[in-house]
Amino acid sequence: EVDGGERGVHAFLHVNTEEALAVAREVDAARAAGGDDAAALHPLAGVPIAIKDLIVTVGQPTTAGSRILEGWMSPYDATVIKKIRAAKLPILGKTNLDEFAMGSSTEHSAFGPTRNPWDLDRIPGGSGGGSAAAVAAFEAPLALGTDTGGSIRQPGAVTGTVGVKPTYGAVSRYGAIAMASSLDQIGPVSRTVLDSALLQELVGGHDPFDSTSLTDPFDTLVAAARAGAAGGGLEGLRIGVVKELGGEGFQAGVETRFHEALELLKGAGAQVVEVSCPNFKYALGAYYLIMPSEVSSNLAKFDGVRYGLRVLPQDGPMTIERVMGATRAAGFGDEAKRRIILGTYALSAGYYDAYYGSAQKVRTLIQRDFDNAFAQADVLISPTAPTTAFPLGEKLDDPLAMYLNDVATIPANLAGVPGLSLPGGLAEEDGLPVGIQLLAPAREDARLYRVGAALE
Ligand code: GLN
Repeated sequence: EVDGGERGVHAFLHVNTEEALAVAREVDAARAAGGDDAAALHPLAGVPIAIKDLIVTVGQPTTAGSRILEGWMSPYDATVIKKIRAAKLPILGKTNLDEFAMGSSTEHSAFGPTRNPWDLDRIPGGSGGGSAAAVAAFEAPLALGTDTGGSIRQPGAVTGTVGVKPTYGAVSRYGAIAMASSLDQIGPVSRTVLDSALLQELVGGHDPFDSTSLTDPFDTLVAAARAGAAGGGLEGLRIGVVKELGGEGFQAGVETRFHEALELLKGAGAQVVEVSCPNFKYALGAYYLIMPSEVSSNLAKFDGVRYGLRVLPQDGPMTIERVMGATRAAGFGDEAKRRIILGTYALSAGYYDAYYGSAQKVRTLIQRDFDNAFAQADVLISPTAPTTAFPLGEKLDDPLAMYLNDVATIPANLAGVPGLSLPGGLAEEDGLPVGIQLLAPAREDARLYRVGAALE
């Protein structure tokens, strides 16, 4: 073992063998008995699943990758967990992540990094590196992640797995510890596009406990994936290549595989057109103002009183402010602190309009870019990440270099549209997985599954 278990991968923070086995045995018994019980089983019953440790679960710890929640147990299940339990998927355990889902490499976890199963010296992406690595290493066939700026899709890309960020509101966020509420979305991680469709259809749908939850039925995803896999539906489909998501900063081997994917789509009868989204160049800047602003407010509740860690000041008066200060100083890591400070600054009186206000305007421009692009194309396509997995440590001390991993994934979160990343083969220069990203208009998640399954 390298370190951290699982032959050095360290995808899991908590393993839940006993409960998972009990559920698996229950499903086995129902299948063996046949009759109504067997017939009533969900197609995914008995298929084990790993859960990103940002999603709350009764009976298992939820840490969000942070010392500040170490030892905390949720008194309730997230809506997605309730659905998973009802369908009898054995929950294998909780997977590693960058603290509070902030990062692109899983190196910002307070509990040590996860490593990429393709090369243990490289990152598995982030923030959901644990979920992606668990699936890539054949430790779990399915996992759940959360995606605020790419944390499902970019780990999918660099580990050769499928990852989907559904339309904002398609899957309930109730019980997902909030990072940036207007961007966060729970979604599936799997080895095939069809598996992700099955999982999104299971966990998605309207939830009165999430005020931003859509009422639309998202129940055609599996049918769409099956149709795509059977070769249906690409004839005449317009696929838009986003001009701004390629070229400078994108690794040659990534571009080569991306162009191959375009040829495949053309061969299957799709029409490939170029579209321009001129405001995408401001997406990263807008995201890194809006996201920390929401982070600073969402993380205010970790005050040393309500949840997890409490650190008492060693000397001086024992005031609530000083307990809060000591707890937050000891409980949060550097990246969480950096973003809380950034967000607090951006929201402060006198700066609000200049920073947060401007970023919100850019967000509208990006939504308009998408509207224009979707008037010319049914689905947009780009590489998911500019490079393949980079070595551990390479970008840890350079936040801006780390943030640049998200250029291609962030626009979807800012506009609320769905995105799917699927494996596009290995880059020639390093033999590491390349991800292809598909984007569709809001509520058109089925379109992604159809095209994704056709391309797979
Ligand atoms: N890498 C991005 C960030 O650090 C994405 C995070 C996410 O999607 N949770 O903010």
